[in-house]
Amino acid sequence: SSEALDGSVALVTGASSGIGEATVEALADEGARIALAARRESQLRELADRIEADGGDALVVPTDVTDESDVQEMVETTHEAFGRLDILVNNAGVMLLEPLEDADTNNLQQMVDVNLMGLMNATHAALPILQEQGHGHIVNVSSVAGRQASPNASGYNATKFGVNGFTDALRQEVTQDGIRTTLIEPGVVDTELQDHIPDENAKESIEDWVESMDPLTSDDIARAIHYAVTQPQHVSVNEILIRPTQQQ
Ligand code: NDP
Repeated sequence: SSEALDGSVALVTGASSGIGEATVEALADEGARIALAARRESQLRELADRIEADGGDALVVPTDVTDESDVQEMVETTHEAFGRLDILVNNAGVMLLEPLEDADTNNLQQMVDVNLMGLMNATHAALPILQEQGHGHIVNVSSVAGRQASPNASGYNATKFGVNGFTDALRQEVTQDGIRTTLIEPGVVDTELQDHIPDENAKESIEDWVESMDPLTSDDIARAIHYAVTQPQHVSVNEILIRPTQQQ
């Protein structure tokens, strides 16, 4: 049987849990060969084994996206293993919420390094390959927090607003090269993201907020990414904003 992404190659960052893991599964189901990047190698291995057991093709590429040479290698390894690269999903992210006055500046640095520098460096590394091919698709996972600021999220907002600006500037630079960009902006998704929040009050208030509604699941976001990357070449889905129905 033929699937929409047969023959395509996708590289997904933050593939070890949450939205990244669900995206890998959705794209593999559609026939894509996939490179899985994140720091937790054992999680990536388990996911790759599942995909291969289902007859798919998965490559584990342990990567810390804050390390520029790691990011370069991630792209090169994927390209060498599969001979092409069609879809890059920049999904790795951290959300270290805390009031700025109490903030550990290392947390601000980490958010910039993962959410922004990791995404920009991966895009920069992949671009020559996509341009050479004359097509390619870059999917950047931003957030509602890329459009709407809130207390305790100054650093996180700065990175996600940054992702939005970066993505639309990039779109205008490369659209004539056949390269598509999609910005994904989820509202509340039930994942491990909030487990790493350093400030106890900020963490509790997010947890209460998540419990107050029927949140999105990682699969809900994976379906949006699947939609964007399975459109015909002349259709560029620039932006998808998705909230749980109960999120204000
Ligand atoms: P998870 O915590 O489940 O996933 C985050 C992923 O990022 C993990 O796979 C983690 O892997 C990876 N990651 C973190 N740091 C690094 C690093 N230095 N190098 C490589 N990979 C890294 O959360 P989500 O699935 O929710 O998050 C995915 C994206 O979705 C993020 O960009 C987040 O900002 C965004 N988002 C999430 C929302 C939500 O409510 N959950 C809402 C809006 C946007 P590992 O630790 O193995 O390296």
